[in-house]
Amino acid sequence: MSAPVVVYRFKDGVYINLTNRCPNLCTFCIKTKWKMSFYGNDLNLAGNEPAAMEVIAALEQELKKAPFREVVFCGYGEPTMRLEVLLFVAQTLKGWRAQCKYPPFSIRLNTNGLGNLINHKNIVPLLAQVIDEVNVSLNAPNAELWRKLVRPEPEYQDGYESVVEFIRLCTEHKMKRVVASCVDTTIPDSQAVRRVAEEAGAEFYLRSFLDA
Ligand code: SF4
Repeated sequence: MSAPVVVYRFKDGVYINLTNRCPNLCTFCIKTKWKMSFYGNDLNLAGNEPAAMEVIAALEQELKKAPFREVVFCGYGEPTMRLEVLLFVAQTLKGWRAQCKYPPFSIRLNTNGLGNLINHKNIVPLLAQVIDEVNVSLNAPNAELWRKLVRPEPEYQDGYESVVEFIRLCTEHKMKRVVASCVDTTIPDSQAVRRVAEEAGAEFYLRSFLDA
């Protein structure tokens, strides 16, 4: 069996798999259906979440292999579950970029938008210091549909408003790009989601099922 992967490639990005934990169980999440594998990469950390220095070592190995346009905190879990590691690694990437260690690249976070609830504080000011772009899975135009689609754990049942607020805070903190998305196969009226995204100041993205 192959070893679990902390850093992997997809399209022109280098992706970081910090955790498999997530407070949601989205109807469209592929991690179970694909048995924790993503195009040949085994993303099942089996509880062994990498320390910051392990992530940095894996990045140093991967980034020198081939060109890349962005580094993305994503994986099969919610990256803000590991906020301290996320911030430390992103700060390191930002430092490398300042030193021109690699050709120019963006630092992106893919998130379910529950980071403020998960961490019991407003984490956006911290993220805005080290993250250029954020893609938030908004998924629905209202709390009721959101709950049906993302199936949050009990303590996150009222999380929809926090997700919208997270998006609004990201735009207020002037991140370079703030995108709020929903999946094209799950929603009857994507224009309603677009309205919520745009009212929060974000760019709307109707993502296809397997976009990262
Ligand atoms: S938020 Fe992401 S990782 Fe979590 S269940 Fe939904 S799709 Fe899967």
